[in-house]
Amino acid sequence: MVITMRTRTCPFCKEDIHFQALVCRYCTRDLPPVAQRHHRKNSHGWLTAITAAGIIVSGAAFLAVEFLRERKNWLTEPPRRPGSQNPPD
Ligand SMILES: [Zn+2]
Repeated sequence: MVITMRTRTCPFCKEDIHFQALVCRYCTRDLPPVAQRHHRKNSHGWLTAITAAGIIVSGAAFLAVEFLRERKNWLTEPPRRPGSQNPPD
């Protein structure tokens, strides 16, 4: 029970014809071509998504490293208090 018939219905005579048929074999009308750009578009989108993901991951990693470096500086620096710069009485 595997449906491997790649057919579509003719919009004019409603007969099952080959999905890539340009002319209906029943009514002999010209048929609009099947858009086959999905595969290319998807593969291109896939490549774009991978590239974008790589850029985002790289940027996030860079920001994380910078953040941790800054945070390390915060932790090593002594805490500054507003009143610490006042001369002692
Ligand atoms: Zn037809």
